[in-house]
Parts: sequence; structure tokens; C-alpha cells
Amino acid sequence: MVERNNLKIYNSLTSDKEKFESITPDFVGMYVCGPTVYSNVHLGNVRTFMSFDIVYRYLKHLGYKVRYVRNITDVGHLESDADTGEDKISKKARLEQLEPMEIVQTYTNDFHNVLLQFNNIPPSVEPTATGHLIEQIEWIKILLDKGLAYESNGSVYFDVKKYNDSGYNYGELSKRDIEELMSNTRELDGQSEKKNPQDFALWKKAAPEHIMRWPSPWSDGFPGWHLECSVMSTKYLGDQFDIHGGGMDLKFPHHECEIAQAKGTTGLAPVKYWMHTNMLIMNGQKMSKSTGNTINPDELVSGNNQLFEKAFDPMIIRFFMLQAHYRSVLDLTNDGVIAAEKGFQRLMDAWQSMGEMPVSDESTFDVQAWVRTCHEKMDDDFNTPMLIAQLFEAVKIIQQIHDGGEKINQHDKMIFKLRMQEFIENVLGLKPAATDNNAKLSAAMQLLIELRNKAREDRDWALSDKIRDELAANGIVLKDGKSGTTYTV
Ligand code: AMP
Ligand code: ZN
Repeated sequence: MVERNNLKIYNSLTSDKEKFESITPDFVGMYVCGPTVYSNVHLGNVRTFMSFDIVYRYLKHLGYKVRYVRNITDVGHLESDADTGEDKISKKARLEQLEPMEIVQTYTNDFHNVLLQFNNIPPSVEPTATGHLIEQIEWIKILLDKGLAYESNGSVYFDVKKYNDSGYNYGELSKRDIEELMSNTRELDGQSEKKNPQDFALWKKAAPEHIMRWPSPWSDGFPGWHLECSVMSTKYLGDQFDIHGGGMDLKFPHHECEIAQAKGTTGLAPVKYWMHTNMLIMNGQKMSKSTGNTINPDELVSGNNQLFEKAFDPMIIRFFMLQAHYRSVLDLTNDGVIAAEKGFQRLMDAWQSMGEMPVSDESTFDVQAWVRTCHEKMDDDFNTPMLIAQLFEAVKIIQQIHDGGEKINQHDKMIFKLRMQEFIENVLGLKPAATDNNAKLSAAMQLLIELRNKAREDRDWALSDKIRDELAANGIVLKDGKSGTTYTV
């Protein structure tokens, strides 16, 4: 079994790298904020979900039983990311003249397809906000009973001042001084339903034209975005769970509000380790749906875009992203992805050549030490770029074993191959690029077709038939046409 006591995670709550100790031994509960499904996912979203795919994979690699919950936000996320503006999904439904749930389904499907393409493992539970309205209404009742929320004109707001006056600290995650914020923003114009601008909606009364609405004790309306995540995380993971993740842009107000709601309800800190991923940028600017500085995965994978010189397999993009640590900003550029493609190819070629490494009686290479270093890198807050550097150390050694400069015995060779496979396939979730396999198949087939043509010229029918028949037996059919021989797989 893999040693699992060395894992350290950077906790945004304490701004410190902390030793990871799960609340219940052997089990980990992890919640990650899922997408708001009103448009196609962009590569920035993919980066965040891929970062948590790595966390999920590595925790499983360490032998934990992980319950990974990632929601689908299908109501309540307003255009302002706060309490004003149209619901993002309603707006899209209005513009496209579709039922909101058609929008939800379309983009949920897109999200699933894209994440699978990038080889992310699906979560254990994928709850939707509209599937948990009863639970959300129950939470609001508790907060109202505790005096930490108030009703105003059919909507219900969380009372941040009351919360802070009760000894809590709204701002503990984002390190904002809310007292100061409040004293500087006493503007409320009398029109607002809120007592303080920092208060946030738990339930919003729907305007007459608003189509996404449900009955509640306060009004026909819809739940607040922040409440959804509090309810869905604790429903499946308990009042206190191990890891909560999301992009850095969700730290405030979204995650700050989640902490306040949970503490206000149970008195307990809901999350032990808060993890935030840094942003993917493109040409120096944040990738975001609202600014339009985005590239969809299929545009990059098909090559159908103006920014990149060719098409890239999703595995190349995955490798490119994992070459940066999840807490660093990553700039997506043509040159960067081209360089990643070369590195990826070198790694895959070396890995696939391991079977042919010659064996000796002794090893000059310490496989176990190399494995330990790989684990050390991942134990250091999931440092994938450092793990990849270790894999390139292995590439060098593999080459030297082939050249006779290093030696490996049979047993170490088996361990080395097995560990390489574990780190590449299980921990990093990489597999050979499909396009690459196609290119290799095509090159091999051209060679076989030439050999067969030569055999026919030489009237060596036995050989030419053998090539055709054995390929056919493996599902590859040769077709002789006027302009030469082609094949179908
Ligand atoms: P959304 O659907 O906008 O709520 O975003 C889904 C997830 O993607 C959230 O965790 C966001 O923080 C994250 N995200 C959005 N834009 C980016 C970006 N440019 N880079 C990395 N993560 C992002
Ligand atoms: Zn959330």
C-alpha cells in the first residue's frame, strides 16, 4: 500500500500548506462547485475541473475511499454573480426561445462530453440545484428561526451584520474586513430590500415575467446560488467534510457565503480544507464567458479557430495544463501547446518502449527512490509539474537503459513499468493521443501496402495474400482502386 501520511494541501482558509488528515480515517468527502449550465464550457472551466480530477485521482491512488460531489447549477445564478440581474439560464432560454430545462440539458450534456474527452473521472454524486429545493427551503427556515435571516418583500436575505454580531467572522476566507466594508457603504437608498449591501439572497421572489419559479412560504421564486452549494454539499457529505474546491473567482462572495450559511445553521465550520484553483488566461487576459475571451475545447481539438496553428488532441491539452501547478496562472498560447505536444510525445514514446528495455543481472538505477520522489512531488500540494519533471527523469533513464549506460534487472524493470503506468495513467489521467495512434497506424499501413505491392510485382502471391488476409482477420480491409490501395478499419 502507498504511504499516505505525507500529503500536504494548501488551505485557502489558513493560507498555509497543511498536513492532510481526513475527518474519518480512510474516507474523504470532497465537494467541487460545478458549472452553471447556460453555455458551452470553455477551457478555463476545464482547467479547474481537471485540477480537481487530479486531487480525486491522487486521493484514490493513496487508497482513500473518496466521495466526490460536484453539482450542476441549474437555477439561481444571476448575471451579476450576486443578487441582481437576470438568471443566466432564464436569459439564455429567452434568447433562444427554449424551455430553461432544455438549456440545462443541452449544456449539461456538453459539459459531460467535454470532461470525458479530457479523461476526467465523473464524480460520485452530481446533484442539481432544482432537485434540492425542499432542502433549501428547510435551511432558510432554520436561518430565519435563528434570527440570522429576514424576509423582505417576499425575498429572504442572510443578515451579515447579525451573523458577525453573533461572534462569527464573515470575511474569514476572503480576508476581507467586512466591518470596514459596512461602514463605508451605508448608502442604501431606501429602495433596496436589504438592510445592508453585504446581505445576500437566500430566496428571491420572482418577477412576473420570470419563468423559473417555485412555491415557498415567502413567495413564488427561486433559491440563492450560494445556498444551493451549502445544501448539496452537506446533504451528501455531512455537516463537516474534508475538501471544498472551486476556481479562485468563487472565493468571494460565493464560498464566503457558504461558510456563513453553514456556520449560521449548525454552528460548525463546514469544510476542513478549502482549495482554490488559479485561472487559465489566454493572451494575458482571463478566460471568461462574460468577456468573450474564450476558446471552446472543440475549437482547439478540431483546429477550427484563428488562434492556434493546428488541431490538438485533448491529451496534449491535458498534458499542457498539468505542466502548471493548479495555484499558478496558466497562459494558453500556441507556442506553449506546441512545446507540450513535443514533450508529451517524448514521454509516450519512452513509456511505450519500456517493454523492450534490455535486462541485466543487476540494476544501477534505484527504482524505489525514484517512486518515492514521485510521491513526494504529488504529496506537496498535488505538484503535477514536479511529477512530470520526475517522469522526464525516467525518460532519460529509459534511454540510458536502451543504450547500455544504465542497467536494470527483471524485477526492477517490472516495478518501473508498473509505476510509470500508475503515474501516467492513473494519477495524471494521460493516455496516448488518439490522433497520434491514427498517424502511427497510417504510417504502418503505408509500409504494409508498399510491401504488398512489391510482393505482387515479384509475383510472390503467397506473401501478398498473407498481408491482405491477416489484416482482414484483424478487421483492416484493403481495397485496390485505380489510384492505388486504401484501407478501412
Ligand atoms: P462557472 O460555470 O462560470 O460557475 O464556472 C465553473 C468553474 O470554472 C468555477 O469553479 C470557476 O471558478 C471556474 N473558472 C471559470 N473561469 C475560469 C478560468 N478562466 N480559469 C480557471 N477556472 C475558471
Ligand atoms: Zn458552489
